Amino acid sequence: MEEKAAVKKVVIFGATGSIGTQTVDVVKQLGGFEVVGISFGSNIEIASRIMRDLGVEYYFSKKDIGFGKRCQSVDELLEKTSPDIVVCAIPGFEGVKTTFSALRYAKRIALATKEALVCAGPFVKDLARENNVELIPVDSEHSAIFQLYEPHIEKILITASGGAVRDVPLERISELKPSDILKHPTWSMGGRITVDSATMVNKLFEVIEAHELFNLEYGRIDVKINRLSFIHGIVFLKDGVIKIHAGKPDMRIPIAYALTYPERKYHSYVADVEEFDLTLFDVERERYPLFFYGLELTKDNDDLAWRIALNAADEVAVNAFLNREIMFTDIEKVVRMTIEYILKQNISVQSIEDVYEIDNLARSYALKYVEKEVKK
Ligand code: NAD
Ligand code: MG
Repeated sequence: MEEKAAVKKVVIFGATGSIGTQTVDVVKQLGGFEVVGISFGSNIEIASRIMRDLGVEYYFSKKDIGFGKRCQSVDELLEKTSPDIVVCAIPGFEGVKTTFSALRYAKRIALATKEALVCAGPFVKDLARENNVELIPVDSEHSAIFQLYEPHIEKILITASGGAVRDVPLERISELKPSDILKHPTWSMGGRITVDSATMVNKLFEVIEAHELFNLEYGRIDVKINRLSFIHGIVFLKDGVIKIHAGKPDMRIPIAYALTYPERKYHSYVADVEEFDLTLFDVERERYPLFFYGLELTKDNDDLAWRIALNAADEVAVNAFLNREIMFTDIEKVVRMTIEYILKQNISVQSIEDVYEIDNLARSYALKYVEKEVKK
C-alpha cells in the first residue's frame, strides 16, 4: 500500500501581498499543504479572508484582526507553528530581518525576498547550511536557473522585461508619475519591485541574487531584455548545450515549484508555439543608468557594504517617489550618493550586526539627502 505523504506545514510572511496571495492560490490547488500561520503589514481585510478561507490558526501583525491567535513577534509565530516551509515574501530590509528568523525555525525557505541575498547573502547561506535549511528561490529567473542547474556551467542568462520605461522616449522619463511607473508590461507585483523593474535595480538585485545562489562570478551572469517575459533563464553548458527555461509569466509556477520541489505537481496554462517569444535585446545604457552603475560596482567590490546601502537607499527613494516627494529620475541620485557615502566610510561587513548597522547608516543618510537635496 502506498504511504500517504504527511501534510506540510507552511507559514507565509507577507501573506497579503502579491506573492503571498498567489501562494494562497497555489496551496489551494495543490493540496498536501496546510497554512499554519501568516504575517502581514496592515491589510486586515485580505488577512481575515485568508485566515478564514484556509483555517489558519496563528498570525503576526501590528494590527489585531479580532479572531485567531495573535503572536507578539515573528519568532513566536514560528515557535508556535513549527513550519516545514516558510515562504519569505516581505519586501525591503524588514524582509531581510524576518528571513533571518525563518532560518532558525524552518526546514525549507521558499525565498521571494531577494533583499536577503542582496544585503546578507553570505550570512544567509552560512545559516542555511548550519541549520540544515533548504533555500529554494521563488524569483522566476532564479527558479528557472535552479531548475536548469547542473555542474559544468559556462554562464547563465536571466531576462528582464525593461519595466514601464522601456518604450518611453528618454527625455520624457523624468516626467513619469507613480501611476505611469506602476504599469508593468508583463508582471503584476508589489509597489517597490514594480518601480525597481523600471529602474532595473530589480535586475541588479537579481544578478547579485544569482551570484549568491549559484556561486557564479559576476562575469558569467548575463542580462537581456525579453519583452514578453516568456524566457526566464538560460544556462550555457561547457559542452555547447544551451538550456532555455520558458513559459508564460505567472509567479504561481515558481511559487508552486519552491513548495513541491523536487516534485512538480502544479497545473497551469501551457503555451502554444505561436506564443513563443524567444527574441532577446540588449539593455540600453542610457535608459537604465543605475543598473549599469551597480554592475560596475560588482566588478571590484565583493564587500556587502555597498549592497546594503543600495537596498536601503533604493527603499527610501522608491518610497519618496511613490509619495510624490521626488521625481523618478531622482531615485538614481539618492542611491548613488548614499552608496558613495557608505563606500567612503570604508566599513567591512563582518557580522549580521554590521549588516544592521550599515542599513541604519545608509537609511538615515538617504532620508536626509531626500529631505535636503531633492525634495520638491
Ligand atoms: P507586496 O508589496 O505586494 O506585498 C508585501 C507583503 O509584505 C504584504 O503582505 C505586506 O503587508 C507585507 N509587509 C510589508 N511590510 C511589512 C512589515 N514591515 N512587516 C510585516 N509585513 C510587511 O510585495 P510583493 O510584490 O509580494 O513582493 C514581496 C517580495 O517578493 C519582495 O522582496 C519582492 O522583491 C519579491 N518578489 C516579488 C515578485 C512578484 O511578482 N511580486 C517576484 C519576485 C520576487
Ligand atoms: Mg524576478
